[in-house]
Amino acid sequence: MLSDILKDCMGKELLIQLLGQDKIAISFDFNRSNPSSYNYKSNTVIMTNYNADVLLHELFHAYQFHQVENHHETEDKDKITAIYCQASANYEVEGQIARYVYLLRRHAFDSTGRYEEYCKTRLGKKIQSAGNLIDGSGNPYTDKQNYNDYYFKPSIDIVLSIARERKYTHINYDESRSMDKNLGNLKSVSIKCS
Ligand SMILES: [Zn+2]
Repeated sequence: MLSDILKDCMGKELLIQLLGQDKIAISFDFNRSNPSSYNYKSNTVIMTNYNADVLLHELFHAYQFHQVENHHETEDKDKITAIYCQASANYEVEGQIARYVYLLRRHAFDSTGRYEEYCKTRLGKKIQSAGNLIDGSGNPYTDKQNYNDYYFKPSIDIVLSIARERKYTHINYDESRSMDKNLGNLKSVSIKCS
């Protein structure tokens, strides 16, 4: 999985950036009922499958957390988690877009059947449209307001409704964040892609 990620310009940069941070543990639990996830407090990714794009998505969350940590110059994990949670829906959509553009660039849809998966769900369809409009630098091809209104915000709404259905707490949308900020991590790991 890591070798697949290293073949991608963004995946490689993501791993390079994470190498400069604390060690991240990756563990596998195929019997877990919850999906793969990243736990910031233990700095651990728990994978329920061997999909490189899922691992990339979880490592992207690790990167987002570390960026919050760097930005706020604190190592207080409770504080960082609280700051992250204020915009966790924004981060989730950015992470979903990162995963989609990775799959797109790796031409991974044909072999994995993942394309059909994206067409099946509300979130998948929206992320597909949002990801198709992202250029190599991590910027939308379209006007940022338009991108927010028709792609980013509708993806947020779906994430929030799924969170409500699954009774997830700590999923919040921060409306005040600009599109530059919402895609800021994606842009900083895409520097070698354009
Ligand atoms: Zn996620």
